[in-house]
Amino acid sequence: MSVLVVGSTALDSIKTPKAENPRLLGGSASHAAVAASFFGPVNLVGIVGDDFPKAYLDLYRKHRINLDGLQTVSGKTFHWSGEYEVNMNNRRTLATELGVIENFNPTLPASYQKSPFVLLANISPSLQHHVLDQMKKPKLIVADTMDLWLNIALPDLLRLLKRIDLFVLNDSEARQLTDESNPLVALKKIHRLGPKYVIIKKGEHGAILSSPKGMFLSPAFPLEKVMDPTGAGDSFVGGLIGYLASQPGSIDSKLPRAMVYGSVVASFCCEDFGLKATTKATRAAIEKRVKTLAKFLKF
Ligand code: AMP
Repeated sequence: MSVLVVGSTALDSIKTPKAENPRLLGGSASHAAVAASFFGPVNLVGIVGDDFPKAYLDLYRKHRINLDGLQTVSGKTFHWSGEYEVNMNNRRTLATELGVIENFNPTLPASYQKSPFVLLANISPSLQHHVLDQMKKPKLIVADTMDLWLNIALPDLLRLLKRIDLFVLNDSEARQLTDESNPLVALKKIHRLGPKYVIIKKGEHGAILSSPKGMFLSPAFPLEKVMDPTGAGDSFVGGLIGYLASQPGSIDSKLPRAMVYGSVVASFCCEDFGLKATTKATRAAIEKRVKTLAKFLKF
């Protein structure tokens, strides 16, 4: 079944202690759409300016991502730049230039409106609402967010939580949202805000799912070398929803395995800058890492 992904389609300039890479293909929707594309059809909703390289459009196409909902308009593509500290866990945003995304108000192509799986990747909650308003009875709605929206658009985000099935956020965002540092207590508080399923991501320490069936802990896939973790969270949620959409069975029963697939796709993302490693991955390479992780988890 198809997955609709809305979020930022961006140019990212990323600095680590070892290297600097300007204007890479990035954005929450780019990472999530490529991650989901390993499992089935993806409908991308986004906007780019006329400075967006054709080679990046070709990368989406190489992954058979449907671009009917990707607008190209005159102006500058959303540009984000960030810098990592030596340990690669701490990151600071250097600049966020909204460009053409500032006035983005998409009307979804009719073929998109029936996508059964919807991923509202990180973007302003008002845009997430706007896209959701146009969907016709989706089977599963997943949303991601970031600290910025907790700071400047909390009422819209709280309203969104009442409309979605699965909310994915990282541990610092969960702390900020609930004022609670214990993740188990935070999970309970987030359920009370609306979502039936909640996943708290803990970076290299994996992710915790809380659902009506109970909890599941997924590790991250262990890597010897992390080049650039930008987009790992988006790759995780993209891989997760792609896997869910591709398999029969109930969401409850599929979610733990979907988290393992999400973790594996995210591991590829970390191995090179931007989308360089993810776009070189294959379904076979993903399956191999899932098997390895399954061995690590058996006891
Ligand atoms: P992550 O590493 O999972 O937090 O995601 C990083 C991605 O989020 C980068 O590719 C950025 O382009 C994108 N991003 C950063 N700031 C924003 C924002 N305010 N709205 C939407 N996407 C953003």
